[in-house]
Amino acid sequence: MATDTALKPNPAMFRDEPHLEPTDELLAELAEASARLETAPPEEILRYAVARFFPKLTMATAFGPEGCVILSMLSKINKDVYVFNLETGYQFRETLELRDRLAAKYGLTVAYHSHEQSVEEFERANGGPLYKTNPDQCCFHRKVKVLRESVVGMHAWLTGIRRNQSPDRAEAPIVGWDSKFNLVKINPLANWTKADVWKRITDEDVPYNPLHDQGYPSIGCWPCTRSVMFGEDERAGRWSGTAKTECGLHALGDNK
Ligand code: SF4
Repeated sequence: MATDTALKPNPAMFRDEPHLEPTDELLAELAEASARLETAPPEEILRYAVARFFPKLTMATAFGPEGCVILSMLSKINKDVYVFNLETGYQFRETLELRDRLAAKYGLTVAYHSHEQSVEEFERANGGPLYKTNPDQCCFHRKVKVLRESVVGMHAWLTGIRRNQSPDRAEAPIVGWDSKFNLVKINPLANWTKADVWKRITDEDVPYNPLHDQGYPSIGCWPCTRSVMFGEDERAGRWSGTAKTECGLHALGDNK
């Protein structure tokens, strides 16, 4: 995994420290926190996350509308939470530029974490673009594996998932144990709707990806994202024409 530099508390500082274990005591604590925060506003959930887990708290963002809103909230609570983007090498230019616009507005640094092989090396090693022949493997190597390596040493991560985004996300707790990545997963926007997110973006002039105004409600890597037509599901443009609906970061059954 390759990362760019960041001076704030980061996973490398904690890599050799004991990992968090999903003991019965911890799972009970998380369940209690999740129940208590079920109707709390996202800012309160973020304050809980920071108070309980910082500096071993991190966030991975693909700069979707939800991620941008969380970053705007986080900038008022703690700017030193370690935030990173899984830079697959296949992101849209507009997505990469959004990192700079968010940094300029909120004073937040978002590090890039990437696979150790460049896109060219990766495609050469796989006989061509893997996203065409085996997108699950492509996502596994360029996202899931990188994320797994990125969070070693951390105890909790924040995500922007909402329950009504997809059936896979409908059961997401506010706070739970993520058995895929072995850390606590906190979903401050689990109860928000798409309309809630866009209201906040509009009300507070939160920077967002201009592709959303061009028919792309959900944006991933450019080879696996298309614009959607009126009436289509908001994630219909992701891996369109395949059975794949998730990159593997938030798959069903990973939360306790
Ligand atoms: S979204 Fe597409 S290009 Fe990006 S990592 Fe997954 S398969 Fe590869």
